[in-house]
Amino acid sequence: MSTLPSLTLRLILGDQLNPHHPWFDTVRDDVVYVLMEVRQETDYVRHHAQKVIAIFAAMRDFAEQLRAAGHRVRHVAIDSPSNRQSITANLDALIAHYGATTVQYQQPDEWRLDAQLASWREGLVLQGVQAEVVSSLHFLTERDEAQRLFEGRKQWLMEHFYRHMRRQHVVLMDGPQPAGGQWNFDHDNRQPWPGTPAEPPDWRTPHDHSALWATIEAAGVQTFGSPQAERFAWPLNRTEALQHLGAFITQALPHFGDFQDALTGKAWRLFHSLLSFALNVKMLHPREVIDRAEQAWRSGHAPLAAVEGFIRQILGWREYVRGVYWAHMPGYDQHNALGHDRPLPDWFWTGRTNMACMAQAVGQSLSQAYAHHIQRLMVIGNFALLAGLDPQAVHRWYLGVYIDAFEWVELPNTVGMSQFADGGLLATKPYVSSAAYIDRMGDHCKGCHYSKKERLGERACPFNALYWDFHLRHDATLRRNPRIGMVYRQIDKMAPEALTAIRDQAEALCGRLDTL
Ligand code: FAD
Ligand code: SF4
Repeated sequence: MSTLPSLTLRLILGDQLNPHHPWFDTVRDDVVYVLMEVRQETDYVRHHAQKVIAIFAAMRDFAEQLRAAGHRVRHVAIDSPSNRQSITANLDALIAHYGATTVQYQQPDEWRLDAQLASWREGLVLQGVQAEVVSSLHFLTERDEAQRLFEGRKQWLMEHFYRHMRRQHVVLMDGPQPAGGQWNFDHDNRQPWPGTPAEPPDWRTPHDHSALWATIEAAGVQTFGSPQAERFAWPLNRTEALQHLGAFITQALPHFGDFQDALTGKAWRLFHSLLSFALNVKMLHPREVIDRAEQAWRSGHAPLAAVEGFIRQILGWREYVRGVYWAHMPGYDQHNALGHDRPLPDWFWTGRTNMACMAQAVGQSLSQAYAHHIQRLMVIGNFALLAGLDPQAVHRWYLGVYIDAFEWVELPNTVGMSQFADGGLLATKPYVSSAAYIDRMGDHCKGCHYSKKERLGERACPFNALYWDFHLRHDATLRRNPRIGMVYRQIDKMAPEALTAIRDQAEALCGRLDTL
């Protein structure tokens, strides 16, 4: 009796586009690589058009490269008649089609997919099909490494984790000491941008993806934001991602530190790297990005403060928030420690607001699928928190709008760092400010419809009354936080009539959020 040769299906998710994964070291006839464009993934939240184009185009590019290298590939297009629009339903069909005896997949980074594939895997065993999970080999830490590091401690601190990472991975170290004698140069990295040095030219190469965009639209996928399909500029493969990395190191890294926190209406990315998409879909490995940055300092091309500031984001924050995510999922998305429940104002989908800082940050999010960290945290997130917007609605907006948004990194940043909805697990105090901070860090207030100095009245900057009202509303929760004691000392000096006027102003603002 003849037996069929065994065949293995290897699933490649849209954020697992690492051509250096050992899977691809040898070409095997008994392995079929499977990539699929499915409504399950386009519809779990409404995404920015550029995000859908980027992931589909990058998957198509990856499939082509695998084919060119001699691998067997099955790419299921969004409009393919055989597409069942669910990852596991498609896998079931492909197992039957190929008579596959084994399915392998790389560990997903999102809890949602991890849980879906894990429960599907249990059913496979009953059918006599083997299922194997391998590491994506992308991160520098294990999922539970941060949790183990903080075992038994009341408070998690990123700085502690970061120093551990610097030592463990020997990054910016001179023997046992941090390079330059300091772990953290954050205090040097807080300048507004005066307009010079000039923002480097956009180093991304535009491609025409209008045909793919037409397919996505015809398939009925609902998106928002500008597709920019004819001059699509995000990197779609490792070669492009490496070019972008090189351009960032040469042109922007030397100034990254100085203007890391700067806000401006005159430039949309300043000296930020725009590498988060390439990193998150694994075209680039964090270690190679870190090494290139460290080399730039060691060769005298970029100052230590800039390089340390940049490396801290990747070696520190990126790995840390992933640790927070896995330590607190499932359920982290449900946190709402401050009980906020207002819906997002309509202009989150249009960018049309009189607040100059918000118009720029939301507007460029919609046009570019990108805003830099301080826009996400201290403009949009700050407003959302002060105005008491529902953190789950805020989370869904952030998860949809940004080119780099994948839940493992977006959720802790939004629900934890930005909205303080986890009650202070990730951030030691709420990231909120009045107009004073936004004015200090940028140039938005000068041309704004609202007055940065006023707290009360029609033209008063909404951030001002909302800032004080936020602290008044949450007095019982926040007053005992030593990091914000000064705010309450100021409040305690205010006359009762002044506090009433602030409350009234904030209530009026929150009653007309759509028209601000
Ligand atoms: P750069 O400023 O050049 O920084 C370099 C790299 O550091 C980034 O590419 C990124 O990989 C990493 N990094 C920087 N800050 C963080 C951080 N706080 N957490 C994790 N990694 C970081 N980042 C995402 O990748 N996906 C998200 O969905 C996402 N959502 C966010 C939501 C909110 C509310 C906030 C406040 C931040 C969010 N971030 C997210 C973190 C950060 O804002 C982006 O990584 C960064 O703006 C991406 O742009 P860049 O590549 O130009 O970054
Ligand atoms: Fe933003 Fe207020 Fe400044 Fe206007 S005045 S740009 S709303 S902080």
